[in-house]
Amino acid sequence: MAEETQSQLLAALREAQPDWVTSEFLRAREEVSRAAISKRIRKLTDLGYDIESSPRKGYRLLAEPSDLTAADLKGLLASSTMYQHPFELLPETGSTNDVLRVRAEEGAPEGTVVLAERQHQGRGRRGRSWIGEPGDSLLFSVLLRPPVPPGQGTLIPLLAATAVYRALGEMGVEGVGIKWPNDVLIHGRKVCGILCEMSVSLEGIDYAILGMGINVSTDPDSFPEEFREVACSLTSSTGKDFSRRDVWVAILKHLETLVKQLWSGDRAGILEAWREGAVTPGQAVDMHLADGSVVSGTAVGVTEEGALTVDLDDGTRRIFHSGEVSLRKAAP
Ligand code: ATP
Repeated sequence: MAEETQSQLLAALREAQPDWVTSEFLRAREEVSRAAISKRIRKLTDLGYDIESSPRKGYRLLAEPSDLTAADLKGLLASSTMYQHPFELLPETGSTNDVLRVRAEEGAPEGTVVLAERQHQGRGRRGRSWIGEPGDSLLFSVLLRPPVPPGQGTLIPLLAATAVYRALGEMGVEGVGIKWPNDVLIHGRKVCGILCEMSVSLEGIDYAILGMGINVSTDPDSFPEEFREVACSLTSSTGKDFSRRDVWVAILKHLETLVKQLWSGDRAGILEAWREGAVTPGQAVDMHLADGSVVSGTAVGVTEEGALTVDLDDGTRRIFHSGEVSLRKAAP
């Protein structure tokens, strides 16, 4: 509740910016006392908002903090129907996917989001780890309750990558591409990893948890050596600064649009959107199989389930599902 009123106040200040909002206006809108308003303003300034106050003119927002707050996010996503639940912003956790799984088992609705500044056990696919530093990256998970048959669950990771692809494109980032199934690259270097974990029963998909790690301003030199050459951040690849909040909000908005599209049955539309950003089809690829062996060939495209079709060098055509292989070689 406190979070809700806080975001309304912020929304009013933002709407008026660069002008003033009178205390009377805020009081009438929220039906609270003058003291309650000034207390909330103080709370916002504590959170890093630069707000000027004047006894006669009221309040005006001068600058926003670069960091993330739940109230802030709520305000920015006010028009969304999917993110109408409390955001959980944790300073530190094992893995946001694990926290969200607990929430999912407790019955949390679709659109529940957990973000952490630091993860001790950030995971990638097949037991790999995901590294992110506080303040430099976005590490969060979104809960989905897919009303689609389990067979369509394989499209969810592709959908998530498409949301990131669109969000970055909208923010003017050039050279963004999706490596099958769901790595987002900038000029061939990985800027975002996605881990989709699902709970499936005979009745269908109970829930899907989409975990995302995005390098926003990370200095590539701070990456572990083993992937320093193949990773990048938004800042390292563009030379520009990005607000984590803007990146996050853009991704969440595109995610909502695509989720609704898939839930309404438009599988073909999702695949088409993914293909627009995909860089893998047509490329020479090395498929690392679960047993440790490697097969090479040329990627042809994706099936209706999002599996990758590859023409192998031995002349056969084979279909690979994301769970069983890792695609390593892929030209920028
Ligand atoms: P790959 O990225 O090798 O194709 P994958 O798609 O299976 O494999 P993910 O599950 O998306 O990988 O992520 C885990 C891998 O991502 C790790 O093995 C590591 O190489 C790489 N990685 C971990 N942290 C980061 C990071 N912050 N930025 C870029 N890459 C990272």
